[in-house]
Amino acid sequence: MVAGARLVVLGKQGAGKGTQCLSLSHHYVVTHVSTGDMLREAVKQGTSLGMKAKKLMERGDLLGDDLIMEMVAARMAESDIKDRGFILDGCPRTVSQAQMLAELLAPVDLDLVIDIEVPTSQVLRRLASRRVCVDCGANYSLTQRPLIGWTCDVCGGEVIQREDDTEVAIANRLEIYEAQTAPLIDWYQQRGQLASVSGTGAPEAVTKRIVKAIEDRRNRKGGRFS
Ligand code: ADP
Repeated sequence: MVAGARLVVLGKQGAGKGTQCLSLSHHYVVTHVSTGDMLREAVKQGTSLGMKAKKLMERGDLLGDDLIMEMVAARMAESDIKDRGFILDGCPRTVSQAQMLAELLAPVDLDLVIDIEVPTSQVLRRLASRRVCVDCGANYSLTQRPLIGWTCDVCGGEVIQREDDTEVAIANRLEIYEAQTAPLIDWYQQRGQLASVSGTGAPEAVTKRIVKAIEDRRNRKGGRFS
């Protein structure tokens, strides 16, 4: 079987992180850990975490670092991740989260951080058209609709526009991304852990570029990570 992987995927809202993480999780047979999906599930279930998260998420504001890292640490302790690794999507989002993640993972660090680069004008167009499945999070758009109505092709769930895909919340999320998350790109670059990949073009082409970046890195490290 293909070797597992321990990856973080960065990129602004609408860069295609969710879609690419799903493809990568199939390719490397590793778990896709999306903090946004975990929080949306908590909101749906009405847990105490979900109740804390709801308002902040609707506005596009970030939750506290400690709260997020506690949730991520609990997930990372499960056996699927211990055995094969993970693809982390939506975390870290601040330098402080990145530091906490490094401590959490020690002594085995990340294999690679992938930054998916897409111009802001393009992500704005993608976000306005984005639709998602409320149950499994599969992504659609006004031009790539489900086969039947707005029913998810994968799980039969309802496909809707996300509550935080409003113009105001999108602008807020992009602003927070530039201020708090973009600095992580330099932070990981300085640690020699970053690969930047263009996120424009067909999703399959982007996946190929990412897999190539990962394999190049693996080969440079003599066929294995860490
Ligand atoms: P997007 O990247 O499109 O903004 P996500 O699905 O990754 O969406 O996250 C949705 C929301 O969940 C964020 O706007 C934020 O409120 C919250 N969230 C997710 N991950 C984190 C995180 N690592 N730190 C703080 N808040 C987070």
